[in-house]
Amino acid sequence: MAKVSIFWFRRDLRLHDNAGLYHALRGAHPVLPLFIFDREILDDLESPKDARVEFLHDTLAGMKESLEQEGHSLLVRYGFPKEIWPALLKEFDVAAVYTNRDYEPYAKKRDQMVRELLDNAGIPFHDFKDHVIFEAEEVQKKTGGNYTVFTPYSRTWKEVLNNRMDSFTNPDGEQQEISYYLKPYPVEAYASHFLETEPLPMPTLEDMGFEPTDIEIPPKSVSRGLIRTYDETRDIPAINGTSRLGIHFRFGTISIREKAWRAKQLNDTFLNELIWRDFYAQILDEHPHVAERSFRPKYDYVPWRNDEADFKKWCEGKTGYPIVDAGMRELNATGYMHNRVRMITASFLTKHLLIDWRWGEAYFAKKLLDFDLSSNNGGWQWAAGSGTDAAPYFRVFNPYSQQKKFDKDFKYIKKWVPEFGTDRYPEPMVEHKMARERCLEAYKSGLEKA
Ligand code: FAD
Repeated sequence: MAKVSIFWFRRDLRLHDNAGLYHALRGAHPVLPLFIFDREILDDLESPKDARVEFLHDTLAGMKESLEQEGHSLLVRYGFPKEIWPALLKEFDVAAVYTNRDYEPYAKKRDQMVRELLDNAGIPFHDFKDHVIFEAEEVQKKTGGNYTVFTPYSRTWKEVLNNRMDSFTNPDGEQQEISYYLKPYPVEAYASHFLETEPLPMPTLEDMGFEPTDIEIPPKSVSRGLIRTYDETRDIPAINGTSRLGIHFRFGTISIREKAWRAKQLNDTFLNELIWRDFYAQILDEHPHVAERSFRPKYDYVPWRNDEADFKKWCEGKTGYPIVDAGMRELNATGYMHNRVRMITASFLTKHLLIDWRWGEAYFAKKLLDFDLSSNNGGWQWAAGSGTDAAPYFRVFNPYSQQKKFDKDFKYIKKWVPEFGTDRYPEPMVEHKMARERCLEAYKSGLEKA
Protein backbone atom coordinates (compact mmCIF):
# COMPACT_ATOMS: atom_id res chain seq x y z
CA MET A 1 0.00 0.00 0.00
CA ALA A 2 1.43 3.38 -1.03
CA LYS A 3 1.87 6.08 1.58
CA VAL A 4 -0.70 8.91 1.32
CA SER A 5 -1.35 12.28 2.87
CA ILE A 6 -4.95 12.89 3.87
CA PHE A 7 -6.53 16.29 3.36
CA TRP A 8 -9.52 16.61 5.66
CA PHE A 9 -12.24 18.95 4.30
CA ARG A 10 -14.59 20.54 6.84
CA ARG A 11 -15.87 24.05 6.18
CA ASP A 12 -13.71 24.71 3.11
CA LEU A 13 -15.51 22.76 0.42
CA ARG A 14 -13.73 23.89 -2.71
CA LEU A 15 -10.96 22.68 -4.97
CA HIS A 16 -9.55 26.12 -5.68
CA ASP A 17 -7.83 28.73 -3.49
CA ASN A 18 -7.74 26.44 -0.45
CA ALA A 19 -4.76 26.94 1.91
CA GLY A 20 -4.60 23.51 3.56
CA LEU A 21 -5.27 21.64 0.34
CA TYR A 22 -2.53 23.61 -1.43
CA HIS A 23 0.01 22.68 1.25
CA ALA A 24 -1.08 19.03 1.21
CA LEU A 25 -0.66 18.81 -2.56
CA ARG A 26 2.81 20.33 -2.34
CA GLY A 27 3.84 17.70 0.22
CA ALA A 28 5.80 14.53 -0.52
CA HIS A 29 2.91 12.08 -0.88
CA PRO A 30 -0.18 11.69 -3.08
CA VAL A 31 -3.20 13.28 -1.45
CA LEU A 32 -6.37 11.44 -0.52
CA PRO A 33 -9.12 14.03 0.12
CA LEU A 34 -11.57 13.16 2.90
CA PHE A 35 -14.85 14.46 4.29
CA ILE A 36 -16.56 13.10 7.41
CA PHE A 37 -20.31 13.55 7.93
CA ASP A 38 -19.87 13.97 11.67
CA ARG A 39 -22.56 12.26 13.74
CA GLU A 40 -21.62 14.37 16.77
CA ILE A 41 -23.18 17.22 14.76
CA LEU A 42 -25.76 15.46 12.60
CA ASP A 43 -27.35 13.54 15.49
CA ASP A 44 -28.30 16.87 17.10
CA LEU A 45 -30.29 18.07 14.08
CA GLU A 46 -34.01 17.78 14.75
CA SER A 47 -35.39 17.42 11.26
CA PRO A 48 -34.52 14.81 8.62
CA LYS A 49 -35.17 17.60 6.13
CA ASP A 50 -32.19 19.85 6.65
CA ALA A 51 -31.23 21.94 3.65
CA ARG A 52 -27.69 22.42 4.99
CA VAL A 53 -26.97 18.69 5.07
CA GLU A 54 -28.46 18.38 1.60
CA PHE A 55 -26.29 21.28 0.40
CA LEU A 56 -23.17 19.64 1.86
CA HIS A 57 -24.07 16.36 0.21
CA ASP A 58 -24.70 17.97 -3.20
CA THR A 59 -21.48 19.99 -2.97
CA LEU A 60 -19.39 16.93 -2.08
CA ALA A 61 -20.98 14.89 -4.87
CA GLY A 62 -20.00 17.66 -7.31
CA MET A 63 -16.42 17.80 -6.01
CA LYS A 64 -16.14 14.02 -6.16
CA GLU A 65 -17.35 13.98 -9.72
CA SER A 66 -14.84 16.57 -10.87
CA LEU A 67 -12.00 14.71 -9.11
CA GLU A 68 -13.12 11.47 -10.74
CA GLN A 69 -12.94 13.00 -14.20
CA GLU A 70 -9.19 13.24 -13.64
CA GLY A 71 -8.71 9.74 -12.18
CA HIS A 72 -8.89 10.77 -8.51
CA SER A 73 -11.72 10.61 -5.98
CA LEU A 74 -13.05 11.85 -2.65
CA LEU A 75 -13.43 9.64 0.40
CA VAL A 76 -16.68 10.41 2.25
CA ARG A 77 -17.37 8.75 5.58
CA TYR A 78 -20.37 8.96 7.95
CA GLY A 79 -19.87 8.43 11.69
CA PHE A 80 -18.00 9.66 14.75
CA PRO A 81 -14.52 11.11 14.12
CA LYS A 82 -13.23 9.31 17.22
CA GLU A 83 -14.09 6.00 15.53
CA ILE A 84 -13.41 6.95 11.92
CA TRP A 85 -9.85 8.17 12.42
CA PRO A 86 -8.47 5.00 14.05
CA ALA A 87 -10.15 3.00 11.25
CA LEU A 88 -8.56 5.20 8.57
CA LEU A 89 -5.12 4.67 10.08
CA LYS A 90 -5.62 0.90 9.73
CA GLU A 91 -6.99 1.17 6.20
CA PHE A 92 -4.36 3.50 4.74
CA ASP A 93 -0.66 4.03 5.20
CA VAL A 94 -0.99 7.65 6.30
CA ALA A 95 2.14 9.81 6.12
CA ALA A 96 0.57 13.12 7.18
CA VAL A 97 -2.79 14.81 7.70
CA TYR A 98 -3.60 18.33 6.52
CA THR A 99 -6.61 20.49 7.30
CA ASN A 100 -7.85 24.07 7.74
CA ARG A 101 -8.52 25.45 11.21
CA ASP A 102 -12.01 25.78 12.66
CA TYR A 103 -12.48 28.08 15.66
CA GLU A 104 -15.66 26.68 17.22
CA PRO A 105 -15.27 25.08 20.66
CA TYR A 106 -16.49 21.65 19.51
CA ALA A 107 -14.21 21.68 16.45
CA LYS A 108 -11.19 22.64 18.55
CA LYS A 109 -11.84 19.77 20.95
CA ARG A 110 -12.32 17.31 18.10
CA ASP A 111 -9.14 18.44 16.37
CA GLN A 112 -7.17 18.10 19.60
CA MET A 113 -8.41 14.52 19.93
CA VAL A 114 -7.34 13.73 16.35
CA ARG A 115 -4.01 15.46 16.85
CA GLU A 116 -3.27 13.29 19.89
CA LEU A 117 -4.27 10.14 18.06
CA LEU A 118 -1.98 11.01 15.16
CA ASP A 119 0.82 12.06 17.50
CA ASN A 120 0.71 8.65 19.13
CA ALA A 121 1.06 7.05 15.71
CA GLY A 122 3.93 9.40 14.82
CA ILE A 123 1.91 11.10 12.06
CA PRO A 124 2.12 14.89 11.71
CA PHE A 125 -1.10 16.94 11.72
CA HIS A 126 -0.72 20.22 9.78
CA ASP A 127 -3.44 22.87 10.12
CA PHE A 128 -3.77 26.18 8.28
CA LYS A 129 -5.67 29.44 8.30
CA ASP A 130 -8.22 29.50 5.50
CA HIS A 131 -11.63 30.39 6.90
CA VAL A 132 -10.80 33.98 7.85
CA ILE A 133 -8.49 36.69 6.56
CA PHE A 134 -6.97 37.22 10.01
CA GLU A 135 -6.85 35.09 13.11
CA ALA A 136 -6.93 36.62 16.59
CA GLU A 137 -3.18 37.07 17.06
CA GLU A 138 -2.77 38.83 13.70
CA VAL A 139 -4.97 41.81 14.62
CA GLN A 140 -3.94 42.89 18.08
CA LYS A 141 -4.11 46.11 20.05
CA LYS A 142 -0.92 48.16 20.10
CA THR A 143 -0.78 47.45 23.82
CA GLY A 144 -1.28 43.72 23.18
CA GLY A 145 -4.34 41.51 23.50
CA ASN A 146 -7.23 41.06 21.14
CA TYR A 147 -9.86 43.67 20.36
CA THR A 148 -13.33 43.39 21.80
CA VAL A 149 -14.74 46.50 20.11
CA PHE A 150 -15.35 46.46 16.39
CA THR A 151 -14.36 49.95 15.16
CA PRO A 152 -10.73 49.96 16.34
CA TYR A 153 -10.49 46.29 15.34
CA SER A 154 -11.56 47.07 11.78
CA ARG A 155 -9.09 49.96 11.56
CA THR A 156 -6.18 47.73 12.55
CA TRP A 157 -7.51 44.92 10.34
CA LYS A 158 -7.24 47.23 7.32
CA GLU A 159 -3.80 48.46 8.33
CA VAL A 160 -2.47 44.91 8.63
CA LEU A 161 -4.01 44.02 5.27
CA ASN A 162 -2.38 46.94 3.49
CA ASN A 163 0.99 46.64 5.20
CA ARG A 164 2.12 43.65 3.24
CA MET A 165 1.70 43.97 -0.50
CA ASP A 166 2.78 41.37 -3.00
CA SER A 167 2.34 40.70 -6.69
CA PHE A 168 0.66 37.79 -8.36
CA THR A 169 -0.16 36.62 -11.85
CA ASN A 170 -3.92 36.67 -12.35
CA PRO A 171 -5.75 34.08 -14.52
CA ASP A 172 -5.37 36.39 -17.55
CA GLY A 173 -1.61 36.21 -17.17
CA GLU A 174 -1.29 39.81 -15.94
CA GLN A 175 0.92 40.83 -13.03
CA GLN A 176 -1.10 42.42 -10.27
CA GLU A 177 -0.47 44.11 -6.92
CA ILE A 178 -2.39 42.46 -4.12
CA SER A 179 -2.26 42.28 -0.36
CA TYR A 180 -0.19 39.23 0.61
CA TYR A 181 -3.15 38.06 2.72
CA LEU A 182 -5.56 38.01 -0.23
CA LYS A 183 -3.35 36.11 -2.64
CA PRO A 184 -5.11 32.98 -3.90
CA TYR A 185 -3.51 29.56 -3.33
CA PRO A 186 -2.98 28.02 -6.79
CA VAL A 187 -4.32 24.55 -6.01
CA GLU A 188 -4.90 23.81 -9.71
CA ALA A 189 -1.18 23.85 -10.45
CA TYR A 190 -0.71 20.79 -8.20
CA ALA A 191 -3.93 18.92 -9.04
CA SER A 192 -1.99 15.96 -10.43
CA HIS A 193 -0.77 15.23 -6.88
CA PHE A 194 -4.14 13.87 -5.79
CA LEU A 195 -4.04 10.10 -5.25
CA GLU A 196 -4.89 8.08 -8.35
CA THR A 197 -7.77 5.80 -7.48
CA GLU A 198 -10.98 4.18 -8.65
CA PRO A 199 -14.15 6.09 -7.67
CA LEU A 200 -14.78 5.64 -3.94
CA PRO A 201 -18.22 4.95 -2.44
CA MET A 202 -20.21 7.74 -0.80
CA PRO A 203 -23.20 7.45 1.58
CA THR A 204 -26.51 8.75 0.24
CA LEU A 205 -28.60 11.31 2.15
CA GLU A 206 -31.01 8.50 2.99
CA ASP A 207 -28.17 6.30 4.35
CA MET A 208 -27.59 9.04 6.91
CA GLY A 209 -31.29 9.42 7.77
CA PHE A 210 -31.91 12.63 5.81
CA GLU A 211 -34.31 13.54 3.03
CA PRO A 212 -34.21 16.06 0.19
CA THR A 213 -35.84 19.44 0.85
CA ASP A 214 -37.34 22.04 -1.45
CA ILE A 215 -35.31 24.92 0.02
CA GLU A 216 -33.46 26.91 -2.59
CA ILE A 217 -29.76 27.67 -2.05
CA PRO A 218 -28.69 31.16 -3.19
CA PRO A 219 -26.10 31.15 -5.99
CA LYS A 220 -22.36 31.37 -5.32
CA SER A 221 -21.86 34.40 -7.47
CA VAL A 222 -23.14 37.91 -7.04
CA SER A 223 -23.17 40.78 -9.52
CA ARG A 224 -20.61 43.53 -9.26
CA GLY A 225 -23.48 46.02 -9.51
CA LEU A 226 -25.01 44.73 -6.29
CA ILE A 227 -21.72 45.00 -4.41
CA ARG A 228 -21.10 48.46 -5.83
CA THR A 229 -24.41 49.79 -4.47
CA TYR A 230 -24.44 47.60 -1.35
CA ASP A 231 -24.16 50.54 1.06
CA GLU A 232 -27.39 52.04 -0.37
CA THR A 233 -29.46 48.86 -0.58
CA ARG A 234 -28.36 46.65 2.30
CA ASP A 235 -30.85 47.93 4.87
CA ILE A 236 -34.05 47.53 2.87
CA PRO A 237 -35.45 44.01 3.32
CA ALA A 238 -37.93 44.30 0.42
CA ILE A 239 -35.16 44.53 -2.16
CA ASN A 240 -32.45 42.09 -3.12
CA GLY A 241 -29.74 44.37 -1.83
CA THR A 242 -27.41 41.96 -0.04
CA SER A 243 -25.24 39.17 -1.40
CA ARG A 244 -26.91 36.11 0.23
CA LEU A 245 -23.48 34.52 0.22
CA GLY A 246 -23.74 33.57 3.91
CA ILE A 247 -24.11 29.81 3.38
CA HIS A 248 -21.16 29.80 0.98
CA PHE A 249 -18.93 31.58 3.49
CA ARG A 250 -20.14 29.13 6.14
CA PHE A 251 -19.16 26.02 4.22
CA GLY A 252 -16.27 27.53 2.28
CA THR A 253 -17.83 26.96 -1.13
CA ILE A 254 -16.39 30.39 -1.94
CA SER A 255 -13.04 31.81 -0.92
CA ILE A 256 -13.04 34.61 1.66
CA ARG A 257 -9.81 35.96 0.12
CA GLU A 258 -11.37 36.31 -3.30
CA LYS A 259 -14.49 38.04 -1.96
CA ALA A 260 -12.53 40.36 0.33
CA TRP A 261 -10.35 41.35 -2.63
CA ARG A 262 -13.47 42.15 -4.69
CA ALA A 263 -15.00 44.01 -1.77
CA LYS A 264 -11.87 46.08 -1.39
CA GLN A 265 -12.15 47.18 -4.99
CA LEU A 266 -15.89 47.76 -5.09
CA ASN A 267 -17.43 48.75 -1.77
CA ASP A 268 -16.01 49.56 1.64
CA THR A 269 -19.30 48.89 3.44
CA PHE A 270 -19.33 45.35 2.04
CA LEU A 271 -15.72 44.88 3.11
CA ASN A 272 -16.74 46.00 6.60
CA GLU A 273 -19.30 43.20 6.81
CA LEU A 274 -16.60 40.68 5.99
CA ILE A 275 -14.51 42.22 8.75
CA TRP A 276 -17.43 41.68 11.16
CA ARG A 277 -17.21 38.01 10.24
CA ASP A 278 -13.51 37.87 11.19
CA PHE A 279 -14.25 39.92 14.31
CA TYR A 280 -16.82 37.47 15.67
CA ALA A 281 -14.68 34.46 14.73
CA GLN A 282 -11.78 35.80 16.79
CA ILE A 283 -14.11 36.65 19.69
CA LEU A 284 -15.33 33.04 19.78
CA ASP A 285 -11.79 31.74 19.48
CA GLU A 286 -10.42 33.95 22.29
CA HIS A 287 -13.52 34.04 24.52
CA PRO A 288 -15.15 30.63 24.06
CA HIS A 289 -17.39 31.23 27.10
CA VAL A 290 -19.66 33.31 24.82
CA ALA A 291 -21.01 30.07 23.37
CA GLU A 292 -22.69 29.40 26.72
CA ARG A 293 -22.79 32.68 28.61
CA SER A 294 -22.89 36.45 28.17
CA PHE A 295 -19.70 38.08 26.92
CA ARG A 296 -20.22 40.58 29.76
CA PRO A 297 -20.85 38.32 32.75
CA LYS A 298 -23.14 40.68 34.65
CA TYR A 299 -25.78 40.27 31.92
CA ASP A 300 -26.25 36.69 33.05
CA TYR A 301 -28.26 38.14 35.94
CA VAL A 302 -31.09 39.54 33.80
CA PRO A 303 -34.28 37.87 35.13
CA TRP A 304 -35.70 36.47 31.88
CA ARG A 305 -39.44 35.71 31.79
CA ASN A 306 -38.97 32.79 29.36
CA ASP A 307 -42.67 32.33 28.67
CA GLU A 308 -43.10 29.26 26.43
CA ALA A 309 -46.35 30.46 24.84
CA ASP A 310 -44.80 33.84 23.97
CA PHE A 311 -41.79 32.09 22.48
CA LYS A 312 -44.03 29.95 20.26
CA LYS A 313 -45.80 33.05 18.92
CA TRP A 314 -42.45 34.60 18.08
CA CYS A 315 -41.19 31.44 16.34
CA GLU A 316 -44.34 31.18 14.26
CA GLY A 317 -44.47 34.86 13.32
CA LYS A 318 -47.73 35.55 15.18
CA THR A 319 -46.71 38.38 17.50
CA GLY A 320 -49.00 41.03 15.99
CA TYR A 321 -45.92 43.12 15.16
CA PRO A 322 -45.84 42.88 11.36
CA ILE A 323 -42.13 43.51 10.80
CA VAL A 324 -41.26 40.83 13.39
CA ASP A 325 -43.78 38.38 11.94
CA ALA A 326 -42.57 38.97 8.38
CA GLY A 327 -38.99 38.20 9.42
CA MET A 328 -39.87 35.02 11.28
CA ARG A 329 -42.02 33.78 8.41
CA GLU A 330 -39.27 34.53 5.89
CA LEU A 331 -36.88 32.51 8.07
CA ASN A 332 -39.29 29.59 8.45
CA ALA A 333 -40.05 29.45 4.72
CA THR A 334 -36.61 30.03 3.22
CA GLY A 335 -33.86 29.56 5.83
CA TYR A 336 -32.90 33.18 5.33
CA MET A 337 -33.71 36.42 7.13
CA HIS A 338 -32.52 39.86 6.17
CA ASN A 339 -29.91 41.35 8.55
CA ARG A 340 -32.01 44.40 9.50
CA VAL A 341 -34.89 42.11 10.38
CA ARG A 342 -32.61 39.72 12.30
CA MET A 343 -31.76 42.69 14.51
CA ILE A 344 -35.43 43.65 14.97
CA THR A 345 -36.69 40.13 15.71
CA ALA A 346 -33.81 39.44 18.10
CA SER A 347 -34.38 42.69 19.95
CA PHE A 348 -38.10 41.97 20.17
CA LEU A 349 -37.55 38.51 21.66
CA THR A 350 -35.02 39.59 24.25
CA LYS A 351 -36.36 43.00 25.17
CA HIS A 352 -40.11 43.08 24.45
CA LEU A 353 -40.70 39.48 25.52
CA LEU A 354 -37.79 39.18 27.98
CA ILE A 355 -36.83 35.77 26.64
CA ASP A 356 -33.23 34.58 27.09
CA TRP A 357 -31.15 35.34 23.98
CA ARG A 358 -29.98 31.70 23.99
CA TRP A 359 -33.50 30.56 23.09
CA GLY A 360 -33.51 32.80 20.05
CA GLU A 361 -29.96 31.89 19.17
CA ALA A 362 -30.88 28.18 19.21
CA TYR A 363 -33.93 28.77 17.03
CA PHE A 364 -31.89 30.67 14.45
CA ALA A 365 -29.24 27.93 14.57
CA LYS A 366 -31.90 25.40 13.67
CA LYS A 367 -33.32 27.42 10.80
CA LEU A 368 -30.64 29.59 9.18
CA LEU A 369 -28.93 28.25 6.05
CA ASP A 370 -25.99 30.50 6.89
CA PHE A 371 -25.94 29.52 10.57
CA ASP A 372 -22.50 30.14 11.95
CA LEU A 373 -21.89 29.88 15.69
CA SER A 374 -19.63 32.93 15.98
CA SER A 375 -21.75 35.38 13.92
CA ASN A 376 -25.05 34.10 15.27
CA ASN A 377 -23.85 34.34 18.85
CA GLY A 378 -22.37 37.78 18.15
CA GLY A 379 -25.62 38.99 16.60
CA TRP A 380 -27.76 37.69 19.46
CA GLN A 381 -25.54 39.05 22.20
CA TRP A 382 -25.46 42.39 20.39
CA ALA A 383 -29.27 42.48 20.35
CA ALA A 384 -29.54 41.43 24.00
CA GLY A 385 -26.99 44.03 25.07
CA SER A 386 -24.71 41.41 26.61
CA GLY A 387 -22.13 41.24 23.82
CA THR A 388 -18.97 42.94 22.64
CA ASP A 389 -20.18 45.98 20.77
CA ALA A 390 -23.55 46.03 22.41
CA ALA A 391 -25.66 49.14 22.30
CA PRO A 392 -26.58 50.19 25.85
CA TYR A 393 -29.41 47.99 27.12
CA PHE A 394 -31.78 50.94 27.51
CA ARG A 395 -31.81 51.43 23.75
CA VAL A 396 -34.84 49.31 22.82
CA PHE A 397 -35.74 49.07 19.12
CA ASN A 398 -39.22 50.35 18.41
CA PRO A 399 -40.62 47.91 15.83
CA TYR A 400 -43.00 50.55 14.46
CA SER A 401 -40.31 53.12 13.78
CA GLN A 402 -38.03 50.42 12.35
CA GLN A 403 -40.83 49.50 9.94
CA LYS A 404 -41.39 53.16 8.98
CA LYS A 405 -37.72 53.57 8.27
CA PHE A 406 -36.91 50.33 6.47
CA ASP A 407 -40.22 49.06 5.02
CA LYS A 408 -42.25 52.21 4.70
CA ASP A 409 -44.46 50.92 1.87
CA PHE A 410 -45.09 47.61 3.70
CA LYS A 411 -43.68 45.75 0.71
CA TYR A 412 -41.67 43.25 2.73
CA ILE A 413 -44.46 42.86 5.27
CA LYS A 414 -47.10 42.20 2.61
CA LYS A 415 -44.93 39.58 0.98
CA TRP A 416 -44.64 37.51 4.15
CA VAL A 417 -47.79 38.47 6.08
CA PRO A 418 -50.54 38.55 3.46
CA GLU A 419 -53.30 38.83 6.09
CA PHE A 420 -51.78 42.01 7.53
CA GLY A 421 -54.44 44.74 7.61
CA THR A 422 -57.35 42.27 7.70
CA ASP A 423 -59.27 41.04 10.76
CA ARG A 424 -57.34 37.76 10.56
CA TYR A 425 -54.14 39.46 11.70
CA PRO A 426 -53.60 39.24 15.50
CA GLU A 427 -53.46 42.22 17.84
CA PRO A 428 -49.94 43.01 19.19
CA MET A 429 -49.13 40.39 21.84
CA VAL A 430 -47.61 43.03 24.12
CA GLU A 431 -48.04 46.77 24.22
CA HIS A 432 -44.81 48.51 23.16
CA LYS A 433 -44.60 51.09 25.93
CA MET A 434 -45.35 48.62 28.71
CA ALA A 435 -42.87 46.09 27.26
CA ARG A 436 -40.17 48.73 27.04
CA GLU A 437 -40.59 49.76 30.67
CA ARG A 438 -40.74 46.14 31.83
CA CYS A 439 -37.50 45.47 29.96
CA LEU A 440 -35.69 48.44 31.47
CA GLU A 441 -36.73 47.44 34.96
CA ALA A 442 -35.68 43.80 34.49
CA TYR A 443 -32.27 44.71 33.06
CA LYS A 444 -31.69 47.28 35.77
CA SER A 445 -32.55 44.86 38.55
CA GLY A 446 -30.36 42.13 37.00
CA LEU A 447 -27.36 44.39 36.61
CA GLU A 448 -27.73 45.69 40.16
CA LYS A 449 -27.74 42.12 41.46
CA ALA A 450 -24.57 41.24 39.54
P1 FAD B 1 -24.37 40.43 3.21
O1 FAD B 1 -25.03 41.62 3.79
O2 FAD B 1 -24.32 40.32 1.73
O3 FAD B 1 -22.91 40.33 3.82
C1 FAD B 1 -21.89 39.52 3.23
C2 FAD B 1 -21.31 38.57 4.25
O4 FAD B 1 -20.69 39.28 5.29
C3 FAD B 1 -22.32 37.69 4.93
O5 FAD B 1 -22.68 36.58 4.14
C4 FAD B 1 -21.58 37.30 6.20
O6 FAD B 1 -20.64 36.28 5.98
C5 FAD B 1 -20.82 38.58 6.51
N1 FAD B 1 -21.61 39.41 7.45
C6 FAD B 1 -22.51 40.36 7.14
N2 FAD B 1 -23.00 40.93 8.25
C7 FAD B 1 -22.39 40.33 9.28
C8 FAD B 1 -22.46 40.49 10.69
N3 FAD B 1 -23.24 41.40 11.28
N4 FAD B 1 -21.69 39.68 11.45
C9 FAD B 1 -20.89 38.76 10.90
N5 FAD B 1 -20.77 38.56 9.58
C10 FAD B 1 -21.51 39.34 8.78
N6 FAD B 1 -24.43 35.79 9.99
C11 FAD B 1 -24.04 34.55 9.67
O7 FAD B 1 -23.21 34.40 8.76
N7 FAD B 1 -24.51 33.46 10.36
C12 FAD B 1 -25.42 33.59 11.37
O8 FAD B 1 -25.82 32.58 11.95
C13 FAD B 1 -25.87 34.89 11.70
N8 FAD B 1 -26.80 35.08 12.67
C14 FAD B 1 -27.18 36.36 13.00
C15 FAD B 1 -28.11 36.54 14.06
C16 FAD B 1 -28.51 37.82 14.44
C17 FAD B 1 -29.46 38.00 15.60
C18 FAD B 1 -28.00 38.93 13.73
C19 FAD B 1 -28.43 40.32 14.10
C20 FAD B 1 -27.10 38.76 12.69
C21 FAD B 1 -26.69 37.48 12.31
N9 FAD B 1 -25.75 37.28 11.26
C22 FAD B 1 -25.34 36.00 10.96
C23 FAD B 1 -25.14 38.42 10.54
C24 FAD B 1 -25.89 38.85 9.26
O9 FAD B 1 -27.25 39.07 9.55
C25 FAD B 1 -25.78 37.83 8.13
O10 FAD B 1 -24.42 37.52 7.89
C26 FAD B 1 -26.36 38.36 6.82
O11 FAD B 1 -27.69 38.78 6.99
C27 FAD B 1 -26.30 37.25 5.77
O12 FAD B 1 -26.89 37.69 4.58
P2 FAD B 1 -26.02 38.00 3.30
O13 FAD B 1 -25.18 36.80 2.98
O14 FAD B 1 -26.93 38.51 2.23
O15 FAD B 1 -25.08 39.13 3.86
